[in-house]
Order: sequence, then structure tokens, then C-alpha cells
Amino acid sequence: MKRKKTLEHQWLEVGGRRRGLDGRGAGELKRLQRGFEGEVEMDRFVEAYGGNGWQVYRDVWLDCGGITQIDIMIVTAGGIYVCDAKNYSGDYVYADGRWYAGGRLLNRDIFVQLKRSMEKVNDMCTRIGPDIRAEGAVVFVNEHFELEMESSVFERVVMRNRIRKYLVEIDTAAVAGRLHVDRLCRAVETYMIENPYKPPVCDAGMYSLLAKGVNCVGCGSYGVGVGYRFIHCQNCRMKEGKEKGILRMICEYGVLMHHKDLILHDIYEFLGGEVEKRYLKTILGKYFKVLSRGKYAKYSNPRQIFDYSFGHLSFFYKDVAAR
Ligand SMILES: [Zn+2]
Repeated sequence: MKRKKTLEHQWLEVGGRRRGLDGRGAGELKRLQRGFEGEVEMDRFVEAYGGNGWQVYRDVWLDCGGITQIDIMIVTAGGIYVCDAKNYSGDYVYADGRWYAGGRLLNRDIFVQLKRSMEKVNDMCTRIGPDIRAEGAVVFVNEHFELEMESSVFERVVMRNRIRKYLVEIDTAAVAGRLHVDRLCRAVETYMIENPYKPPVCDAGMYSLLAKGVNCVGCGSYGVGVGYRFIHCQNCRMKEGKEKGILRMICEYGVLMHHKDLILHDIYEFLGGEVEKRYLKTILGKYFKVLSRGKYAKYSNPRQIFDYSFGHLSFFYKDVAAR
């Protein structure tokens, strides 16, 4: 399964597109985006060099004597492998247990997340069975990352140019391994939980500051023309099929207001009155599960951006790129 951005990440992205983030939110979005790109890059390596019979879990939460999040966990007949993907760039030094970036001391330990995860994962292994072993690695996926470090470092560090070798080694151990992968996965899955952290909520104050209306799929600008079949952008000249575009807007609302059900009037208001209520009602009825009917009908909120909920659909009126 392809990796998805977390709800918090989607929320920040949509909030940013509607000019609703303060400096802290914008910084957090940047950090999440960089991290996500690093994880996707690691996924590509696993896709390309992963072995047969591997079970790969992405962005999972474990509850085992404490809660921890893991970017990639690979279960093979040889054991369990936990990867913490880091997408840093620049010159780093690790010496005497301290990190330096660009010559300046960092006040955090880049290994700490993996260390904490491994405590819990090792705990889990002990509970599952006597022969179950887990190994952790911090994987630096960015090609513009340089690291200078002493040889005697706690866990395994994998640089980008060694990722392939690292995965091949995992597979060699898997081929020689005797664990029953399906059974092991079922045991591991009993420790998995949903992300326990609540995503941020758009309160009335933030809502009032958001840009309202339909935005352009190409350039993100507002003040587009909502026509009969297409949404026209005066800025970049792109045309988007209306049904898809409105569905995309309802999903934006759903992500921002993930704590609410979908209600026609709220969406009408969110879109600045640019889309007729009758049209919105048709789209809501066609694509979303009805929770309650009547004047104040409620529809189920998928709490996901368009790509994740409806990206697999094809629409009669296709997008037309700017010419
Ligand atoms: Zn545009």
C-alpha cells in the first residue's frame, strides 16, 4: 500500500493553501513535508530491492510498554527490521554523543527516536517469542547529506549509498531465516494501534481568516470562474472538470473540518457562495454516505484529501492544461 500523508500533514497543507497558518504552522508543515519525502524515498528503495515474502509496514504505531511510531517496519523470516528515515541535507558531525550541523551544536539527538522505538520493539519481541529479534537503523536518504562520525556508534547508520546493500543483507538473512512470517505478522499486528495523537482543529477564529472559495488545481489561486462543466482559472489558464474540482473542494473542507460531518450549507459558505447549492447537493449525494436526511442532511466526512478518497476515479470532463 502506498504511503499516505497523516491527517495532520493534510490539514496543514490545506490550511496553508487557504492562508490559514501562522509561522509555527508553516514551519511544522515544512518539517512534515521534508520527512514525508524522505519516507517516500525509502519506500522506493524497498520497492526496488525488497525481497520475496517480506511484509512491509509503513507509518505504524505500536503500543508495547509505551507508544511509538515507526516509519518502516520490515518483517521477514530472518527477523524484524525497523527503519527511521531521515531526510536531512548538509554537513553533520556526530562526536562524543553530540550532533553538529554546519558546525553548530544541535540540541537534539537524531538517534533518540530510534532508540525509544527499539526499546518498545525489543519488548514486543520478548513477549512474542524467544527467537524473535529486531534490528534498528537510522537511514539517511538524502544524497546531499554528509556525516562524519566515530565508528563506535550505538545502532546502525545507513547512508544513502548503502541502502541497497542494507536491504540485500536483510534479504540474505531472510532467506536463511526460519521464522513463520504470517504468524509473526499476526503477533506484531496485535500491538498496532491507530495514531493516538489528535490532529489540530480549525476553530472559529482560524476559520474566519481562511481564504474562502474554489481554488485552481494548477496554481492554487482564488477567484476562478465556476462554469457549467469546467472551472476556469484566469491566472494560469488551466481548466479543471467541474465535478472533480468540486469534489476536491469538499475534500479540502473535510480535511480542515475533520471534526465535523459534511453539511450542505457549511460547504456552500466555505466555497464563498461560488457554487450553487443544488450542484453541491448532487455531488454530496453521489459521492458521500448519507448519515441523516432532511433539510439539514449530514454526509459522512472521509477526512482525506481528494487524491486519497477519489484519486482512482476517472471523470467525464478531464482537466485541460494551460496552453
Ligand atoms: Zn491557475
